[in-house]
Amino acid sequence: MDENEALAKRGEGVLVPNYRPAPIALVRGEGCHLFDAEGRQYLDLMGGIATAVLGHCHPKVVAALEEQAHSLWHVSNLFTTKPQVELAERLTRHSFAERIYFGNSGAEANEAALKLSRRWHRDRGDDRFEIIAFDGAFHGRTLFTVSATGTPAYWQGFEPLVPGVHHAPFGDLEAVMSLLSQRTAAIIVEPVQGEGGVRTAPEGFLRGLRELADQNGCLLIFDEVQTGIGRTGPLFAYQTSGVVPDVMTLAKALGNGIPIGAMCTTTRFAEALVPGTHASTFGGNPLAAACATVVLDELCEGGVLERAQPVGDHLGAGLEAIAQRFGPQRIIEARGAGHLRALELNQPVAPIVARCREKGVLVIQAGEMILRLAPPLVITREQVDEGLSVIEEALHEIF
Ligand SMILES: *Cc1c(COP(=O)(O)O)cnc(C)c1O
Repeated sequence: MDENEALAKRGEGVLVPNYRPAPIALVRGEGCHLFDAEGRQYLDLMGGIATAVLGHCHPKVVAALEEQAHSLWHVSNLFTTKPQVELAERLTRHSFAERIYFGNSGAEANEAALKLSRRWHRDRGDDRFEIIAFDGAFHGRTLFTVSATGTPAYWQGFEPLVPGVHHAPFGDLEAVMSLLSQRTAAIIVEPVQGEGGVRTAPEGFLRGLRELADQNGCLLIFDEVQTGIGRTGPLFAYQTSGVVPDVMTLAKALGNGIPIGAMCTTTRFAEALVPGTHASTFGGNPLAAACATVVLDELCEGGVLERAQPVGDHLGAGLEAIAQRFGPQRIIEARGAGHLRALELNQPVAPIVARCREKGVLVIQAGEMILRLAPPLVITREQVDEGLSVIEEALHEIF
C-alpha cells in the first residue's frame, strides 16, 4: 500500500462518508501544480473548485498570512479589526456595493443575503418572505440555501425545507413573472450557473430580472460565489451583464483558499441588519481578511485580471477546437467564459476525470455529463495547452 492509499484508508476510518475523495492524498501545492503523498505532480485545472485564483501558496498571500499570524488572529466582531476594514474598503471601491458583511463560506454569504431580503421588507411592514430561485441553481448546503438550490438531489431527505422558495426554469422570464407577487422578498440567481453545468444566463435574462424586481419591489441577489473574483473575466460577472444587483455574494476565490465569504450590498438594504440581527463569530477574521485583501490587490492593481484575459480566451478556443474534432454526437457543447469552462459530453464524465488524474491533470465535474475547468487565473498558455492535450487524450480513450 502506498502513502496515498494508506492516508485514504485512515480517512475512511474516521471521516463522515459524505465525500468520495479521489484515491490520492494531496500534500503540497505550488502555483498551478499539486503534489500527492508519493511526490507525483499534477497540473491543477480545477483550483480547489474555482478557489485558488492565484494558484497554490502564492508568495504574496503566504506573506500576508504570515505577517497577520504574528500580529492578530481572532478577537470577534465585538471589536474593529484593520484587515476587515481594509478588505471591505476594497470590495466597495471595486463594485457597486457600499456595505459588506463577512461570513466564512458561500452558503453563509447567501444565507445572509436571503435573511436580509426578508428582514428589509418586514421592517417596512410588508409580509414578503418568498424567494424565487432557478432550476439547476446551487446556493449552498444550509437549510435556507439548499432550499434555494435547484437540484433535488441536494435537498432530498432533508425536508421540510424553508417555506416560500419557488423555482423557475433558468432563463424563463415569463415563469418568473408568474411566480412574483406581493409576497416576494427576493430573486436569487447565478450569472453563470457553476455547479449546475457552467450555464451562462441567456442574453437579456439578467436585465429582465432587474426590470421585474424593480417593478415588483423585491431584491435582486446575484450569487457570485463561483463567478466572482475574476473567474469569468471581469472582477465580478455582473460588470459585463449590463445590470447591477441589490446584493452580491462572494466566497470561493475571495481568500484564495482561506475560508471567507462576503455579502455585498448598498446602504439602503444594509440598514435591515441592525445590531443583533445577524452575526458570525469568525466572520471577517483578520487572517482571512488579510489574505483576501492581497487577492484583490493582485487581481486589480497587480495586473492578474488583465493578463488572464487572453489566456482565458485561449482556453475557450482550445476547448471549442476539441469539441469540433469530436463532433456534436460525442461533445455536445464547449461553453463558459474566462477561466470557468466546460465540455458537455453525451456520456458520464467520471471516467474522463479519473483518466486525466492518472495522467497528471486535475479536472472536475459539474453534473454527471459535464466536465468543468476552473484553473488558477495565473495559469500560462503553455500549461493550458498541456492540460488540453491530456484531456483530449483521455477523451480518445473513452470514445
Ligand atoms: C460553491 C458555491 C456555493 C456554496 O459555497 P460554500 O462555501 O460551499 O458554502 C454557493 N453558491 C455558488 C454559486 C457556489 O458555487
